[in-house]
Amino acid sequence: MKTLEPRIPPAKGIELIRNAQRIAIITHISPDGDAAGSALGLSALLWELNKEPVVLCQDPLPAPFHFLPGFHAARQKATGPFDLIISVDASDPERLGKPLQDLAPKQLPLFVIDHHITNVHFGTVDWVEPTASSAAELIFDLALAMQVSLTVDIATCILTGMLTDTRGLRTSNVTGRTLCVVAALTNAGAPFSEITERVLNHYTLPQVRLWAEALPRVQIKNGVIWTTVTRSMREHTGLKNQHDGGLVSFLTAVNKAYIGVVFTETAEGKVEISMRSVPGVNIANVAFALGGGGHPQAAGCTIVGPLESATEKVIAALHETLQQQLAANSELRP
Ligand code: AMP
Ligand code: MN
Ligand code: MN
Repeated sequence: MKTLEPRIPPAKGIELIRNAQRIAIITHISPDGDAAGSALGLSALLWELNKEPVVLCQDPLPAPFHFLPGFHAARQKATGPFDLIISVDASDPERLGKPLQDLAPKQLPLFVIDHHITNVHFGTVDWVEPTASSAAELIFDLALAMQVSLTVDIATCILTGMLTDTRGLRTSNVTGRTLCVVAALTNAGAPFSEITERVLNHYTLPQVRLWAEALPRVQIKNGVIWTTVTRSMREHTGLKNQHDGGLVSFLTAVNKAYIGVVFTETAEGKVEISMRSVPGVNIANVAFALGGGGHPQAAGCTIVGPLESATEKVIAALHETLQQQLAANSELRP
């Protein structure tokens, strides 16, 4: 049997960790399972090294992840002093929001750990691995490299990040190596089926109510399927800041769709755009050009409103890239 290929973190990143004591771990705004899993997994790993980490995120970590060790110790505001910042699962400094802004004037070293192909390399040391399934998978590689044995806590956080970012190991970036890592984490005591049950098999009632209002608004044209979610829909269904990639993934599974998009109006009058595509169609470039980022098949950005003009602009850009990609590759099928 092929053994697990090691993935080596930059020596300078490891040196930054070894030389630090109080470490701020910051993950992205509107956090998802990989944000929570990679940040809390790294925190558990650093405790094993007798460091004093604090997990920071501008927005509260989503409630379904409350079972993860360290969840309740995560903070929205930085309370120093710190001697190192580690960013996880964020492709640019804006994605880290206020906690980074609060600490940035202190000129601390910054170690960036990420797997987005659109990462802008904003750290003192950058470790960006677009082939990794998730930022959490890189925490596994860090544990191996730093010879920290996988406790149940570390393994549970990492596996949660991996399972959420791959929607239960179903995305096109899942490889044999991903499955070897999942096996190692499961062998270390991470409860695979319990995690799946908790974070992939549940929807809240507000989510379902929002879907019920968003689905009649679905449009499909030239291979792109989309819907819009207004601020008032979010308010009266009770879905406030909850991250929900479920709806856009559901739309992208519709026959004849190559690209799915959900446009969500924010309280500030901006529009959050969540995009997915079928394997072979790349949407990361469009998201990056609009000031956002992501992966070839899952990307996003936030642009100025109103909803109607934002929708028109983004659908036009997606139609253009899709036509180009279809012309260049006649094998592409939705
Ligand atoms: P989502 O649709 O929100 O689940 O996001 C899909 C992917 O796009 C994730 O990898 C996000 O990190 C990335 N993404 C979403 N919004 C943004 C943004 N405003 N800037 C950069 N990356 C984003
Ligand atoms: Mn994420
Ligand atoms: Mn991720």
